[in-house]
Amino acid sequence: MAENTGCTHDCSTCSANCSSRAPQYDAPHKDSHIKHVIGVVSGKGGVGKSIITSMLSVAMQRRDYKCAILDADITGPSIPKAFGTKGDILSTGDGLIPLATKTGIKMISVNLLLEEETRPVVWRGPVIAGTVKQFWTDVVWGDVDYMFIDCPPGTGDVPLTVFQSIKLDGVIIVTTPQDLVSMIVGKAVNMAAMMNIPVIGLVENMSYVKCPDCGRELHVFGKSKAEEVCAQYGIPFIGRMPIDEKLASLIDHGVIELMDNDYLGSTADAVINFCEK
Ligand code: ADP
Repeated sequence: MAENTGCTHDCSTCSANCSSRAPQYDAPHKDSHIKHVIGVVSGKGGVGKSIITSMLSVAMQRRDYKCAILDADITGPSIPKAFGTKGDILSTGDGLIPLATKTGIKMISVNLLLEEETRPVVWRGPVIAGTVKQFWTDVVWGDVDYMFIDCPPGTGDVPLTVFQSIKLDGVIIVTTPQDLVSMIVGKAVNMAAMMNIPVIGLVENMSYVKCPDCGRELHVFGKSKAEEVCAQYGIPFIGRMPIDEKLASLIDHGVIELMDNDYLGSTADAVINFCEK
């Protein structure tokens, strides 16, 4: 029975979390066997969601899990660039074949569908949302242990489509120290709650800078409030990453798989514990 008056019984047009809500998730392609699906979200763009998605996939692949990335951040698809992955997405007639990175992470992104990667994607929301759905339903992903979905920032059409059509195990919220003092994290937490998706935890990016001379950690945005904010929302704090110029260079050269840090080791542990507990 719906608690909200004016209920149309069409949950796809309503985000109310009432007892009538019955998620109608789309099935993946018949030849996709995906054990766990994790959404990586943020309240706004530019906080490092794509870099964290990429690095976490690398960290998990190094732990011998078969990983895949579905790049749903259609408005700023930077995943293929981070891995230096290029090539056409082939269709077998039965489905689309994802590309693979140098270490074998399967990947699909709208950037791989564009003739020129600098061309802006000017599609309207429903078209973008439809493309993301197709990345789930029409791509032959094969066997995947962990799929990471780089979700578009914010709470618009496309993240809603991701949440409503793909059954996620949980989401990771990426933020920066400045956003922790605003309402942005709260919005991401509330959106996940409205969609009944568990929050695996929060990762704070750009937490500090390491002085190249003395190695001291400089907290340029002041002392982190990450633990405090996580306690406030009742979500786990699962990782902290510094601003590191080496990372920017690895991304620029398309070789993120050569990273030699374990910044997201605790995040990878948290994901495994969460999914395999
Ligand atoms: P989002 O996906 O949230 O829009 P990106 O992951 O694309 O953000 O990051 C935005 C830019 O900031 C990219 O150029 C990325 O390489 C850079 N960046 C993000 N986090 C870091 C970091 N910790 N150290 C260095 N550069 C970073």
